[in-house]
Amino acid sequence: MRWSPWRTALSQAWQEALDALWPRRCRLCGAAAEDDLACGRHRLPSAPAGPRCARCAAPVASFLPDGSVCPACRHRPPPWERATVLGDYRSQPVLREWILPLKHGGRRDLAEVLGRALAHRIPEARLPAPDSTPGEQRTLLVPVPLHPWRRLERGHDQARLLALALSLASGIPFQALLRRTRDTPPQGEPWAPPRARNVRDAFTLAHGPWKALGNALSPPPLAGRTVLLVDDVITSGTTAAACTKCLLRAGAERVELLALARAGA
Ligand SMILES: [Zn+2]
Ligand SMILES: [Zn+2]
Repeated sequence: MRWSPWRTALSQAWQEALDALWPRRCRLCGAAAEDDLACGRHRLPSAPAGPRCARCAAPVASFLPDGSVCPACRHRPPPWERATVLGDYRSQPVLREWILPLKHGGRRDLAEVLGRALAHRIPEARLPAPDSTPGEQRTLLVPVPLHPWRRLERGHDQARLLALALSLASGIPFQALLRRTRDTPPQGEPWAPPRARNVRDAFTLAHGPWKALGNALSPPPLAGRTVLLVDDVITSGTTAAACTKCLLRAGAERVELLALARAGA
């Protein structure tokens, strides 16, 4: 369009004027920001360091191409199809600096920044077509839920906030479809049973109002759809496996994981 260079120049001038009046601040620490999100010290990674397994996002040998499948996944494939993360919880410690205040420090505002950053990692094939309506979209964002008691204790559910931010940034619809029926003690506590047994039956589908009105009134929301299961950190993968099996049983075509970080081997 003939006037687009003028519009670009005008928008740049407007941004410069705004920056002069209100300098951009790091959303985590408040220092002068290098971009519209973070200072140099808190710049979020755009991808994990080094090649990763396509199925579980664990590091693979440095000579292998990114997206190779690790020996553990070849031996025993997880129920989900692929895992995408922003980075590594241990080797990229800046992620911890963002995740811990979101999870335990009441900084729910950070979910928007982290969701925007993670949205860039969503595979292109999962993004909605530009002219599609929400009803036509085959991909759905579903958060791993906290137990209601834990959400009450914490004041918010970080995976749910993250899924909402991802939905706003990507245009993929969001539905909190899973419910945690059993509160599981934090891992590492002496009374915590082995994790797999701990979470195996802890999730169910949170039925919407159509359940009470009769299933005929609304088609199952998951049939034929790809679910992007959202969590803050993937650790052993047993929670994600329990959620994935629940979604597949409910008719989802495939499940892929989307998380801020991968921790553990
Ligand atoms: Zn900062
Ligand atoms: Zn793997």
